[in-house]
Amino acid sequence: MWSNIHFPDGNCDPCWLMDALHAGTLVGCTDGSYNGKRSTVLSSAGWILYDKKSDLRLAGSFCEHSPAASSYRGEMLGLCALQLLLLALDTWHPSSESYPVLSIFCDNEKAGERAHEEHRRVKPSWSCADVLRSFRNTKHILSIPIQFSHVPAHMDDLLPWEQLSLAGKLNCMCDSLAKDGLRRGMESGYADTYNLLPNECSAVMFPSGKASSDPADYLRQSLGHREAQVFYTTEKEWSLEKFDLISWDDLHVTLLGKPLAFRVWLSKQSSDFCATGRQMKRCKMSVDDRCPSCWKKNESAGHLCICPSARLQTCTSPSTWLSYDDLLLQYFVETMLLGWYTVAWHLER
Ligand SMILES: [Zn+2]
Repeated sequence: MWSNIHFPDGNCDPCWLMDALHAGTLVGCTDGSYNGKRSTVLSSAGWILYDKKSDLRLAGSFCEHSPAASSYRGEMLGLCALQLLLLALDTWHPSSESYPVLSIFCDNEKAGERAHEEHRRVKPSWSCADVLRSFRNTKHILSIPIQFSHVPAHMDDLLPWEQLSLAGKLNCMCDSLAKDGLRRGMESGYADTYNLLPNECSAVMFPSGKASSDPADYLRQSLGHREAQVFYTTEKEWSLEKFDLISWDDLHVTLLGKPLAFRVWLSKQSSDFCATGRQMKRCKMSVDDRCPSCWKKNESAGHLCICPSARLQTCTSPSTWLSYDDLLLQYFVETMLLGWYTVAWHLER
């Protein structure tokens, strides 16, 4: 979280931050970044603390590896980081005087609303519940009052830089920081999967990473992975190395966005439990295990992908009849009818 911090003019002395905090001239801003096309497990955050009086700013960015990576998670991580930094300042130099309200800008309305809420208990079903727990625990002990405000994103697309508000400029800078953090995470293969967040008291860990919300989903995925490994390495006779070559976690994320019917079809097709001749005979729903189209024995799921019946059907469709001579056409029709008739004959017996 603190691996990439930019100090003003390389000066690490944070006294100006305390002065700005007491003077009420300090503002914060954060933004998150996520690119699901390039990585579904990385999200990043960029943050800035800026002193309006001295024009000094402290900035940072980081990238996190999590199976729950998302744009929203990046935003929440940024808010979490800023709040932790303020807690560190407050702890380092505690003040008997009350602080003026500090504004933190964020372009994600949902994250801003969550940051404002007061919760004794964070529900496990909430998105990024782990970040929210850390955020809540920090909030309880932080004596600096914070006002979370929404700022429109990417205003530099519409207005020249000089016409942007301070919050708009800080948001654009945070956006660049977050994108830079995400790029570094992708290039360096950042894989800090198992770390607890600061002020996060406990977490449930799975091989795919930390449970960021309801662990039931992670538990189902983990048990499913184990059962798939047993199935493919025993019944399908795969080697363990072959099984591990498949990116199961990425496959899981990809299939989450597909319709249920497609996922059921893929499960049946890949496990060879679709209604092929082999399975129909095993379930005693047929006495013949042959493919009804090409008459091949022991019809399997794999055969469906290479069955020449597709070619036969194409060959015998009226639109292609004219392109074949009589003998070839007779062969195609006879072969197909013979297959259908033989299976039907067995079914009637
Ligand atoms: Zn066939």
